[in-house]
Amino acid sequence: MITADRSATGRRPRVVIVGGGFGGLQVAKGLRDVDAEVVVIDRVNHHLFQPLLYQVSTALLAAGDIAPALRTVLARQDNARVVLGDVTDIDPHSSSVTLTGPDDVDRTIEYDRLVLAAGAESSFFGHDDWAEAAVPMKTLVDAITLRERLLGAFELAAQSEDLTTRGECLTFVVVGAGPTGVEFAGQLSALARRTLRREFHELDTADLRIVLVDAGDSVLSSFAPSLQRHGEAALEKLGVERILGHSAETIDAAGITVRPTNGAGSESRISARTVVWAAGVATNPLARRLAETTGAPVDGRGRIKVDPRCRVPGYPDLFAIGDAANVHDLPGLAEPAMQEGRYVASVLASDLAGASPPAPFRYRDLGTMATISPTDAVAQRGRVRMSGLPAKLAWAGVHVAFLVGWGNRFAVLMQWLQVALFGSRRRQLIIGSRRSVH
Ligand SMILES: Cc1cc2nc3c(=O)[nH]c(=O)nc-3n(C[C@H](O)[C@H](O)[C@H](O)COP(=O)(O)OP(=O)(O)OC[C@H]3O[C@@H](n4cnc5c(N)ncnc54)[C@H](O)[C@@H]3O)c2cc1C
Repeated sequence: MITADRSATGRRPRVVIVGGGFGGLQVAKGLRDVDAEVVVIDRVNHHLFQPLLYQVSTALLAAGDIAPALRTVLARQDNARVVLGDVTDIDPHSSSVTLTGPDDVDRTIEYDRLVLAAGAESSFFGHDDWAEAAVPMKTLVDAITLRERLLGAFELAAQSEDLTTRGECLTFVVVGAGPTGVEFAGQLSALARRTLRREFHELDTADLRIVLVDAGDSVLSSFAPSLQRHGEAALEKLGVERILGHSAETIDAAGITVRPTNGAGSESRISARTVVWAAGVATNPLARRLAETTGAPVDGRGRIKVDPRCRVPGYPDLFAIGDAANVHDLPGLAEPAMQEGRYVASVLASDLAGASPPAPFRYRDLGTMATISPTDAVAQRGRVRMSGLPAKLAWAGVHVAFLVGWGNRFAVLMQWLQVALFGSRRRQLIIGSRRSVH
């Protein structure tokens, strides 16, 4: 146990962590042996493993497989407390946060140290009306909404005698050809061509269209050119159409209009009942607000530019990590968030014990990966490039290892095995009202 300075009140210092995602959870766990009260506040009661969200939306995994309750995760950590609430304000002058609890009542919690780990939010980049028609992929609610839309579209196609309606129902447009869009499109192809073909005898999967739209000129643009080409070829084999170099102009309940990004050429229309938004996220409003209050600099994406110890400049008791912060210009990915979380826990431990701080934060690049189909993925680390089955196995190993809890790891592995061996999924549920099928 690391003994910490008692504050003037005589109580243990309180470390408040806003957000129990990839970064926040690592801070909490890293303070396990520190004599401090650790308070994790989150607007949802679970820790979400976002990289596998697309598998919930394509009925491969259940929501609980990738989202253990925060209380369960921290049950054995005596100094940790979980508070369910939406943080609406951080006041560095009174060292307090305001949150709206489950009863919609505002409460205030004081802190001695605060870590902002609230992540990013899905964003339609100024086109908020598109949210009515397109489904983003950021939360469990998004994933389940999308699952119901997909399955509902198949059900409606199966009942419809009108060929136009049937075609619209069987056309799925994914906006954004980064890892999220590619992974979703590949998995949807597997769901439709393998599982549903056996179960929807009324439908011909030859009528299925999966269209990937991106403003850039390649899929998986954050990967090396050779892996981008591999991704293109793999998507071609899966029957996923690509409309690259085109941006969304309008999205409504009947489809999407796209226009060449370079302005040369005319717009075109794709009629589709399901449009998936995988084109990006924006900084959490809480980070923007904290930057305004503290005068902290922000980067082009609105992330707080923290110092090399992940502190908000000028506020030694305020830290920001993960997608809400920018340290060393790292991308908004899970691994930087986790490493920053572990690092901040070590800074806090020495700070509260009155010891000298650890060396400034350094990121250890473990590489990036994206999966394309049940047997194919791409991975790169430094100059090493991998694709095909070896990359898929590496991808599976890393994702299972990074899931929180042995129960979830086992459940996910079993589910993957079942689908790989028998092709059948057990999560094809529409549990919302009939209206979710439109
Ligand atoms: C669909 C998808 C797929 C992805 N795939 C990959 C991948 O394959 N590999 C990879 O490395 N990265 C991937 N990412 C990115 C990765 O998930 C993020 O970079 C990572 O989650 C950032 O961690 P974080 O701790 O900053 O935020 P998060 O993990 O997002 O956690 C933020 C937490 O804060 C909570 N919160 C937010 N606002 C408030 C508030 N006002 N009050 C209370 N609580 C709040 C949220 O509920 C959430 O629990 C993916 C992201 C998405 C959306």
